[in-house]
Amino acid sequence: MNPILAVGSVAFDSIKTPFGEASRVVGGAATYFAIAASFFTEVRIVAVVGEDFGANIDKVFGGRTIDITGLETVPGETFRWKGEYGFDLNSRETIYTHLNVFEQFKPKIPESHRSSPFVFLGNIHPTLQLDVIEQVEKPRLVGADTMNYWIEGTPDELKKVLKRVDVLLINDSEARQLAGEANLVKAARTVQAMGPKTLVIKRGEHGVLMTRNGGGFFAAPAMPLEEVFDPTGAGDTFAGGFLGYLASCDTVDDAALARAIIYGSTLASFAVEDFSVDRLLCLTKDEISVRFNEFKTLTHFDVT
Ligand code: AMP
Repeated sequence: MNPILAVGSVAFDSIKTPFGEASRVVGGAATYFAIAASFFTEVRIVAVVGEDFGANIDKVFGGRTIDITGLETVPGETFRWKGEYGFDLNSRETIYTHLNVFEQFKPKIPESHRSSPFVFLGNIHPTLQLDVIEQVEKPRLVGADTMNYWIEGTPDELKKVLKRVDVLLINDSEARQLAGEANLVKAARTVQAMGPKTLVIKRGEHGVLMTRNGGGFFAAPAMPLEEVFDPTGAGDTFAGGFLGYLASCDTVDDAALARAIIYGSTLASFAVEDFSVDRLLCLTKDEISVRFNEFKTLTHFDVT
């Protein structure tokens, strides 16, 4: 089992969906990632919160294989984000982003974490992502996320990061934008040529598309769910399930990558069933196994 070093945001979110509202609940990309990955391996979280985060640290990260040595608490308020979803839950508007203590965030990797074999660079400034890569000693696998803001604003810095990344996890619009190419297959090839050997394109309720080493693709649908309350964090939860599972494998080959896609999709399907991290916090390993097998039934067909 390989520990994963995970860097990113820990936040208070406010969320409005057609089914309800939640105010000042725990969120953040690193939070979703860490909880999801902790079902498979040890996660070493590197992030910052304000003093207002208080007992949430224990509530969210306690009792799990999550090492919080690198989670700094500093004077000031925790990062706050508010998002509002449209009727079909595919469109989301950011109402506000208050960086607060996140504005001065400079990830400091504790000495004990520098030899982490797996690294996940959450969606932060590419220069900070690069800085994290510089602080770790020859990781076996580096995964990363990014967003349109960095693709548009800091393309040169981002390209330097991509050269050092093994697996890039982004959504379809980000892949198209990064490649400057509307066709997703061609876009995937262009992004791969920028560095990441494996590209995982998240497509929300339409599932996931992953490039394969031999040149082909692996695709999986999202679990068809009757109740989707809050899609916030689905992408980060996917990344946690995906990398968490890979880190628990002895070898990262095509077969392991395909199973990791299904574990990522499984974890993400739970995250959207309730607001914030609520569903993930009461999730069990047995429930994960049952849904993983449901994915097998969902996607299996016989050739006669
Ligand atoms: P996702 O739905 O996977 O895009 O993740 C949403 C989570 O990312 C929320 O919990 C937010 O707190 C967090 N978030 C939103 N905007 C940013 C940002 N600019 N930087 C870092 N984290 C963010």
